[in-house]
Amino acid sequence: RAYNFAAGPACMPEPVLKKAQSEMLNWHGCGMSVMEMSHRGSQFAEIHAEAKERFKRLLNVPYTHEVLFLQGGATSQFAAIPLNLMDGKPASYAVTGNFSGIAAREAGKYGDVHVAYEGKGNNYSHIPEQGELSIAQGDAYFHYCANNTIFGTAWGYVPETGGVPLVCDMSSEIMSHPVDVSRYALIYAGAQKNIAPAGLTVVVIDKSFAGREAAVTPQVMSYQKMIDKDSMLNTPPCWCIYMLGLTLDWLDEQGGIEGMEQIKHGKAQMLYDCIDSSKLFTCAAEKPFRSDMNVTFRSASEELDAKFVKEAAEAGFVNLKGHRKVGGMRASIYNAVPVEGVEKLCDFIRAFDKAN
Ligand code: PMP
Repeated sequence: RAYNFAAGPACMPEPVLKKAQSEMLNWHGCGMSVMEMSHRGSQFAEIHAEAKERFKRLLNVPYTHEVLFLQGGATSQFAAIPLNLMDGKPASYAVTGNFSGIAAREAGKYGDVHVAYEGKGNNYSHIPEQGELSIAQGDAYFHYCANNTIFGTAWGYVPETGGVPLVCDMSSEIMSHPVDVSRYALIYAGAQKNIAPAGLTVVVIDKSFAGREAAVTPQVMSYQKMIDKDSMLNTPPCWCIYMLGLTLDWLDEQGGIEGMEQIKHGKAQMLYDCIDSSKLFTCAAEKPFRSDMNVTFRSASEELDAKFVKEAAEAGFVNLKGHRKVGGMRASIYNAVPVEGVEKLCDFIRAFDKAN
């Protein structure tokens, strides 16, 4: 298998894939694959409950919050959040990258949006400090994206909002470090980067914020309805929920989220040190705001970048081409990317740097 640095869908832990393979045709002796079960049957009920229990335990989700396993991607939440939480009030958005910009524009369809920060001027290489945020008091919520997948920047702190409820897109960093869930009205994530295959969206909501949705809210987007039905108002993404459960079991074996935080920070440090000490490459993100998950870097020429990406792929390091909005390269080093893969990528970067 290749070392896969894709931004999402992304590398899954190999032991998880092997476990799924071993259970593919006949889950726990029931004679069916998980893909063939009724979502209302007892077997799937067990899979669903176990995945949810592991998620709650690992992320330390307090009893005030509920965990929902939904479809539609993080993009569906860009609409669901304003529909459910605005309640006739404006909302504040920090725009620090592509997806927080899309989220803000989507919310603008349903109510007034205050832009608390706009990072376009520095091509989103920067994360605002607390003092750079203008959060309108009285707003329904303040939304930010903790890790900017395309630009490779991350918030190193949880913003203070002065009582405005906090909403966060954690798609590209969920389960990579501990989070004080009690500070958030809502956390959401497309699962396809760090915790499961594409098709599952996880929402963690403070239950006191549910039940305020606008009348036009589609029922699959109503948090209250999904809480009432334990995410099974309609057919949930069964296979992805099963894979989430296996992935969280694997995460547990890595020392849980605390253990993973050490591992992921070590991998990122190793890669950034390698890039910083090269003669050819520089990082796209400003140093204090560098993401541990998506490492964006480039050489001085597009031709050399293309040569790097091509030769890396030939050597077994795939999906390193940067997003077109940034150019250069991007190595996404989510939880499942092994330390050994990053070590070998660093060896490759050093050899390339010497030869070119
Ligand atoms: N937010 C972030 C931070 C993302 O990286 C992405 C996907 N790359 C999205 C939202 C959109 O997610 P989805 O494709 O699941 O709708």
